[in-house]
Amino acid sequence: MAARVAAYAGSFDPVTLGHEDIVRRGAKLFDRLIVGIGINPDKHPLFAADERQTLMRQVFADLPNVSVECFSGLTVDFAREAEASVMLRGVRTVSDIEAEFTMALANHSLAPELETVFLMAADRYSHISSTLIKQIAQMGREASRDQLKQFVPAAVIEPLMTKVQRPLSGTC
Ligand code: ADP
Repeated sequence: MAARVAAYAGSFDPVTLGHEDIVRRGAKLFDRLIVGIGINPDKHPLFAADERQTLMRQVFADLPNVSVECFSGLTVDFAREAEASVMLRGVRTVSDIEAEFTMALANHSLAPELETVFLMAADRYSHISSTLIKQIAQMGREASRDQLKQFVPAAVIEPLMTKVQRPLSGTC
């Protein structure tokens, strides 16, 4: 029987405990899981794509059936190149479902051979987003190191704090 390959694409800027949970659960469901870090020229990410890739490779080093690649262009093209039959997505909220549903329909018309499979976020991670984490790191400074443990894998904390460190400025 052909191997079941899934592609899990996103920005992962940076990877969170929510993403990690989806990858670990996905790795049990599929023979191979290929994480795709999307390079979007219109976005200004905190971490360069190769930095995100290095971090994710560290986080998933213990999972032999997970690989991490970067891609630009359409997710369906990335999935096809990876020879995936499934696109894996995580959903946190009802509003996520709305957006994901539209995207799944668009992807289905672009690539009818690909199925989108959704995993519900674990309730303890359903409030976590990369945007929230960047805000906590930026606002909280030193105190945020400890708080960040609840949101991101340990390997992400120091690189994240280094990225956001800048001198306090302004008087009001
Ligand atoms: P994008 O820019 O495509 O939204 P993200 O890196 O934010 O990329 O997310 C990639 C995928 O991971 C999406 O399917 C998203 O819904 C899912 N995801 C993001 N955060 C979580 C979370 N806390 N729990 C479960 N899934 C999540």
